[in-house]
Amino acid sequence: MVLFERQPIGSCCICSQGWAVVVKEISSQKCFVYCNECEAEWDHPEDFLSKQEGEWFKYGKITEPNDKDVLCMGWDKYISQELKSRVINCKMKPVDQTIFL
Ligand SMILES: [Zn+2]
Repeated sequence: MVLFERQPIGSCCICSQGWAVVVKEISSQKCFVYCNECEAEWDHPEDFLSKQEGEWFKYGKITEPNDKDVLCMGWDKYISQELKSRVINCKMKPVDQTIFL
C-alpha cells in the first residue's frame, strides 16, 4: 500500500493509527480526505473534523495533490503544518546523510 502523507490534516478519528490526508481521485480530479492506514474516506475536511463516519471504496485510484491543488480548493487551512513539517524532515534525512558521507 502506498502511504499518502504530504497533505496531512490530523490523526484519523476512526483507527487513530493513520493520518487523514488530502488526496485526489485521478479520474475525476476531485479532492477528498483519506486515511492512509484504515483507508476511510470523507468528502470534505469538515466532515472529518466533525468526526462524521467515514466511507470506504467510494473513490477510485488516487494520487497526492500538490500544494497548489490544495490551495485552489481552499483546503490549505485544514492542513496540519506541524505534521507536514514532520514528513518533510523525514524525507530530508537521507539527503543530509549523503552530505556528511
Ligand atoms: Zn484511519
